[in-house]
Amino acid sequence: MLSYQHAYHAGNLADVHKHGVLAWVIDYLTRKDKPLTYIETHAGRGVYDLTSNEALKTGEAAAGILRSEVAGWFDADHPYGAALTRFRDRWGENAYPGSPMVAASLLRDTDVMHLAELHPQENAALKAAMGRRAHIHQQDGYKMAKAICPPTPRRGLLLIDPSFEQKAEYDQVPDAMAMIHKKWNVGVIMLWYPVLQKRLHGAMAVRLESLFPDGLRHEVAFPPAREDHGMTGSGLFIINPPYGLREELDRIGARMATLTG
Ligand code: SAM
Repeated sequence: MLSYQHAYHAGNLADVHKHGVLAWVIDYLTRKDKPLTYIETHAGRGVYDLTSNEALKTGEAAAGILRSEVAGWFDADHPYGAALTRFRDRWGENAYPGSPMVAASLLRDTDVMHLAELHPQENAALKAAMGRRAHIHQQDGYKMAKAICPPTPRRGLLLIDPSFEQKAEYDQVPDAMAMIHKKWNVGVIMLWYPVLQKRLHGAMAVRLESLFPDGLRHEVAFPPAREDHGMTGSGLFIINPPYGLREELDRIGARMATLTG
């Protein structure tokens, strides 16, 4: 259990997809003065070292965030580009921001953060990185989200980013999202899922589309990071998508489509 470690994968193309869209959504939500709540069910450690043995072993960041920057996908005007700059000013050029840090770089002091991370070491690292900026929960992320929704402030965003270590999670996720949406019908809920060669996400994505007909489903394909790597793309499903998100997803999709092996 809990054998997944994001340090091997931080900054890969799936992260670029997820974090690029996350940054755009947070930027959109913070255009209004009113404070918001940011919630994450599977937060990870927050800060990753791209020179670590784990990152160098897989080479996923080199094929992901580093490649996207050489290609100039996110300039300083894009919220993800802005978040990367702010984060690196504090943590250094070789550090990569996990989703809680992408969020923290863009949120205001009046916005509230709740982050769940079950793994003891990852949770300790997350606490050390976030300090007092966020409420950190060491418990199952779905339970945490169900307990605090609807949150105060009521506006906001929930990111669900599971590692899908167990196949049963593909069945559980739509039920959890339906329950949370029922309690918090104004919240933006964003799910990330892997697109694997085995296409394990297929039935889940179809179920999400039938449960949430106004939700946005977005999938991108990319070259596998290694010859034997089963992940060939990345998916997002967003409930209560902000105005203009469809066009932003198309822009990110078009950039990803330029990648070849
Ligand atoms: N969201 C992070 C980011 O984008 O930077 C990456 C998160 S990683 C894909 C998934 C994390 O969820 C792992 O750190 C794992 O320890 C944690 N985890 C697994 N099951 C969990 C659960 N039921 N509740 C909370 N955390 C969990």
